[in-house]
Amino acid sequence: MTALLKADNLVKQFPVKGGIFSRVVGAVHAVSGVSFEIGPGETLGLVGESGCGKTTIARMAARLMEPDEGVIAFQGADITRLKGKGLKPYRRKIQMIFQDPYSSLNPRMKVGDIVAEPLVIHREVTRRDKKKKVGDLLEQVGLSRDFYDRYPHEFSGGQRQRVGIARAIALVPPLVIADEPVSALDVSVAAQIVNLMQDLQEKFGISYLFISHDLKMVNYLSHRIAVMYLGKIVETGSRVGMQRPLHPYTQALIAAIPIADPKTKRKKIILAGEIPSPMAPPSGCAFHTRCPFAEKRCREEVPVIKEWQKEHWAACHFVDKVNV
Ligand code: SF4
Repeated sequence: MTALLKADNLVKQFPVKGGIFSRVVGAVHAVSGVSFEIGPGETLGLVGESGCGKTTIARMAARLMEPDEGVIAFQGADITRLKGKGLKPYRRKIQMIFQDPYSSLNPRMKVGDIVAEPLVIHREVTRRDKKKKVGDLLEQVGLSRDFYDRYPHEFSGGQRQRVGIARAIALVPPLVIADEPVSALDVSVAAQIVNLMQDLQEKFGISYLFISHDLKMVNYLSHRIAVMYLGKIVETGSRVGMQRPLHPYTQALIAAIPIADPKTKRKKIILAGEIPSPMAPPSGCAFHTRCPFAEKRCREEVPVIKEWQKEHWAACHFVDKVNV
């Protein structure tokens, strides 16, 4: 399968300034050597706690931010350092859905103009057929065409996120990057939005990079899953393969999901403590400060991500010991 989007060894740091002269006193290691691929019509779920670098990856993949190191290729073309006009064709092919449907829509714009904006920017619509085209898009995301002249504040959170999705799919992009698209919504509304995204994927063959802290939601929507911890991918595999995770961090995330049936048995790994500061990530395996299996080697040596089972990769020195 040829990758639609290929990210190779991405690195991003943000300088931290301090003191009366605002000198650079350190750096936040937001993303440290992350690689992944997304195929056509595929959903890659990226999961991890807040502060692990997921949003930085989303912004780099959408080329809203340039990586310090690494390569981003889209449909085989290197887009890592493109700017201005060179980037414009890719702006229409890579769209984003944002977390907060309340602040991501301009409150002074009518819904019709919000949804039509990408079509107008890329000259894909005439003044005459704008209303019809936007009406069709609103219906496609389960909203009434009569909402055209209304303002975002007149809608619920779920309806606003549908408006955001209508806008994102207006140009029928091959890739949509959804950064925590349902975390501000009630569970039932979130499920409706995820189902809508699935329907649109079937209809238009859209690929998604679906970013969330909610492993259950990621597991529901994604074909493949990548788990991030402190700026790195620690485990990645197919949805089915990830039902038996190899990495202690993924096992802890799964252990934290409530289960309806008390008879269901699963490994008990309690995720204690906070995620360490990305300004001073721990030595060796960054997870060693919270890992119940940590040994001396974990503190000294960075584990390399390896394929332990077919298409199932994990970065842990002791996968065999952890999974007896
Ligand atoms: Fe835990 Fe060590 Fe594996 Fe890291 S390398 S996950 S600390 S056992």
